[in-house]
Amino acid sequence: MELTYDNLLVEANTHRNDIDKNHLRMVFDYANEKHLGQLRKTGDPYITHSLNIAHTLAGWGLDQTSIEAGLLHDLPEMSGISIEEIEKKFGVELADLVDGVNLVGQVRLRGSRDMEFLENLRKMFVHMAKDLRAVLIRLADRRHNILTLYGLPIIKQRPIALETLEIYVPLAERMGMGKLKSELEDLTFPYVYPEEYKWVTEIAGPHFKHSIENVPESINRIRLQMSKHGIVAQIDGRPKHKYSLYRKLMRPEINQDIGKIHDLIAVRIITKDAASCYSALGVLHQYWKPVPFLGISDFIAQPKPNGYQSIHTKVFDHRGNIIEIQIRSEEMHVQAEFGPAAHFAYSIAKSSGASTDKLEEGTSFKVGNKFDWVKQLVGWKDQMFSEKEAIKDFSLDALSHHIYVFSPKGDVYDLPENSTPVDYAFNVHSSLGFFIQTAKINDRIATVDAKLKSGDVVEIIKTKKSKSPNKNWLRFVKTHKAKLEIKKALEKVGGV
Ligand code: MN
Repeated sequence: MELTYDNLLVEANTHRNDIDKNHLRMVFDYANEKHLGQLRKTGDPYITHSLNIAHTLAGWGLDQTSIEAGLLHDLPEMSGISIEEIEKKFGVELADLVDGVNLVGQVRLRGSRDMEFLENLRKMFVHMAKDLRAVLIRLADRRHNILTLYGLPIIKQRPIALETLEIYVPLAERMGMGKLKSELEDLTFPYVYPEEYKWVTEIAGPHFKHSIENVPESINRIRLQMSKHGIVAQIDGRPKHKYSLYRKLMRPEINQDIGKIHDLIAVRIITKDAASCYSALGVLHQYWKPVPFLGISDFIAQPKPNGYQSIHTKVFDHRGNIIEIQIRSEEMHVQAEFGPAAHFAYSIAKSSGASTDKLEEGTSFKVGNKFDWVKQLVGWKDQMFSEKEAIKDFSLDALSHHIYVFSPKGDVYDLPENSTPVDYAFNVHSSLGFFIQTAKINDRIATVDAKLKSGDVVEIIKTKKSKSPNKNWLRFVKTHKAKLEIKKALEKVGGV
């Protein structure tokens, strides 16, 4: 279905009550006029692209300026309209945002991992720390470009899909935009890994069929139990996304055995508030017993670093099959799907009005310290040994998949995939790294270079006195922080 201006207005009004429709119309008419006669590679009028992006942004509940910047974002490149012209016509805030979207858009991978790419990437994060909206608009832009990727010559499709999977997907993930992340993964999967896509589709087919035949009955039974106990909840089940299934199959403990995957259909219980989540869990566990050792994860009490909250539990259903059930409140659900966009309050704290300090604190985004990592990444410029090396670490930290591990006290730490107890120690506190005797993972003694997994509880057994770090640690540490601290310490004792 082709979107129209009226669709956009309806979507914007559905999510906000402060839309100035005359202004929105004016911006749309301007974009429409300036894109007139231009076509997308799919053969559609160019304005369909701008409208689609604006519609997505409206659906995320973003402010009017973001929606309008979505409509105007390609005018500089496509129609030679300058930022000054946009400023003259629509004011400085909108012009700045269109400028920001174009700056962020310069990040290109296209098969190269050179310095230019990494510098551009860093620029993107610098910009992100100032105004998150430019990045959100780029994400919406990328989503539509992938949806219409079929319009491009085959030789151009894979590089763009790969760039999306390597840059924009991790970005969406770390921002806690779960819905967009899965969407982009599933859209790019067949372009990037066609053979693997075929394999997963083939082996998953019969298992999905089995789940689809049996899960509705399980859902009905849960529904009945909840209403019996007076718990108001919405219960549904949806098939696991293919790319996320693929990644899970490739985990060493799963070893490509689809029989070990219990959330082919993710069953969700969505309640009114956090307290009802625990009531629902209680009712569920009285009715169906939790699976020993697979256990439950309480991400409500201990949210994931990107803000994700839910209780996950695995139970034996009435047939003795293991199913995974996620329990969360409506608010947590919206947060999990849309991330920071869910709570945007830009109409109050406009980027132009808020002070730089406030922007750096993140108060004007209302996303609080969940975005510490953006500031951390941006701050790296000041603490580099060699620029080249630091920038390489930067892309690794920013774009690799992340895991979360727990301290013995239950604090959550966010680390890049394949991080080790040494990375953990230096990220908890720079001094802890200098007291490493050995480590325990989930209460078992482990080597200091063991690869950590999400959910691991990591404990550092400390030496009595601080000691110089081992030079060999540099061979396996993954985080910039650990590398930096180890090098600094070794330099002091003349070890490097
Ligand atoms: Mn575009």
